[in-house]
Formats: sequence, C-alpha cells, structure tokens
Amino acid sequence: MFADLHLHSRYSDGTYAPEEIVLRAGQFGLAALSLTDHDTVEGCPEAAAACLAKGLEFIPGVELTAELRGHELHLLAYYIDIHHEPLIKALAQYQVARQNRIREMVSRLNRLGVPLVAETVFNLAKCRSPGRPHVGRALVHCGYCYDLDEAFELFLKKNRPAWVPKYRVSATDLIQLIHGAGGLVVMAHPGLNHYDEAIPELVEAGLDGLECFHTKHTPDLVEFYLKTATEFRLLITGGSDCHGLGKGSPAMGSVRLPLAYLEPLRAWVAKRGYRQRLAPQTVVLPLNQAAGFAPNPAPMLKHSN
Ligand SMILES: [Zn+2]
Ligand SMILES: [Zn+2]
Repeated sequence: MFADLHLHSRYSDGTYAPEEIVLRAGQFGLAALSLTDHDTVEGCPEAAAACLAKGLEFIPGVELTAELRGHELHLLAYYIDIHHEPLIKALAQYQVARQNRIREMVSRLNRLGVPLVAETVFNLAKCRSPGRPHVGRALVHCGYCYDLDEAFELFLKKNRPAWVPKYRVSATDLIQLIHGAGGLVVMAHPGLNHYDEAIPELVEAGLDGLECFHTKHTPDLVEFYLKTATEFRLLITGGSDCHGLGKGSPAMGSVRLPLAYLEPLRAWVAKRGYRQRLAPQTVVLPLNQAAGFAPNPAPMLKHSN
C-alpha cells in the first residue's frame, strides 16, 4: 500500500474538490494522503472527513513559499494543528498577498492591452488562495489565450511580462511557525529548487524532512536526495504534487510512497505529542483580521460549496 503526501485541491490552484481527491486516491490504491494546498488549510476538514469515510489515513498539511538568501523554496508542513491561531493569522496574510498579486498581474496584462478584469479571475478561482493558473484559466475563458500553455508562455511564466514574484517569508521564520503549530517541516521538491546548498542551513534551522520522491525527480535525483536525507538524518517523504486537471498536471498515482516511510513520521509525531484537531470549525480568518498587512485588502471570497 502507498501514500501520496503532496496534493492540491481547488482551495488553492488544484481543480479537484477534496472529496474527489480522496475518491481518486482510493482508486489508485492509496492508503494514506495529505492535502498540501498553497497557503491554506481550508480543505483539510473536508479531506479528513472523506478519508475517514473511506478508511484512508489523513495527514493535515499545507505548502508555503519561503525565501532563503534570495532563493525561493517551498516548504511542506505536515501534522499541523490547523486551528493554531498564529498559523491561521499567517495564512490569512499570505492569502491577502496572493490576492494582491493577482491584481498586480491583471494590471500588467491591462498595460499590455489585454482587458482582463481581476474579478473574473476571483470568480473563476472561488478560493482565498488564488495563483497564476487561475489567471491563466481566466485568460483562456475570456478568449485572450488559446490554452493554459499559451497563457504561461506569453504572459505568466517567470520573467514574462505579466509575471509577478510571489510573496515569500523567511524560511527560518516559517520553520518556527510550523513547529509552533505542532507540525513537521519538509523541503518540497528540492530537485526543482536547484538550491541544495540551502539544506545544511535549513537543517540547522530545524528542517525535519526532505521530499525525495516527486513527479519531477528523475531516479538519479531520488537516489541523491535519499542519500542526502540519510546523511542529515531527515525524514523522507514523497508525493505527486497533483493539481488535478490544471497546468502541468502531474497525475495522482505518479508517485506512490511506500507506507513504510510513514512510520518514522508517526514516531516523530508521537514524540512531539501531536493533538489532531480536524473538526470543521474555523480554519480561516476574515481577511480584515489580517489588517495592517495589505495596503489594499481584496474582498472576501466565497467558496462554491
Ligand atoms: Zn511547490
Ligand atoms: Zn505543490
């Protein structure tokens, strides 16, 4: 039996609802999964309930964008207490930053003569944590681009004219925040970051694990990161990074982490005395409580379900 510990739902830039992910996980023979949406834990209660109903193990998670010495890194947090107040406040800030980033991308598109309206993107996204794929989908929806690939090539890819850098928080601060929320911190897809020099410094700052298995890691890279994880005594994780049917779309099932890798994670969690609180109570803050952060708070966005 296998696990997939890196999955995105439509609460960020994935296309599946958490229930659909769980349904597909069952079809792929997965026995455990984690939902790791960008900057939000909103989907976790739904995913947890669906996993419970299907007899799958659920690990609450989130993926955060971090910065170390000018480099962008992604950190995965697992077994977090999704009701931990400082975490919820920080996530609310990241979500406001994401919404402001969408507005900035739309302004740039407007200056390029593409009359896209930010509300079109927000209405399509229907989530608090929108990203570039939502802008791409809006460009296709409005007929300004033929498909997502064209939208990214023409406008949205890094260093293309409508690209806007992501809001990033210091990796060391994020590690502290995640530990404060009872979670463990894993460096996501190190093979995509091209910044392995960061690993010793992150370990020093409290990094707990390395995502050795990832859709975009070649067998050589997997082997290299397995060795690195052993060298630094890091936990080993893996996942497909599936975003559903969206841009790039690595599919669920493309990475199947043997369940034996979950044992050290569970032992870590038991040692730290993790308390799982997944009841569907508030896991997001009204955006005005993130006040003082954004000069132009975006309006509250509603989910479709
Ligand atoms: Zn990532
Ligand atoms: Zn991801």
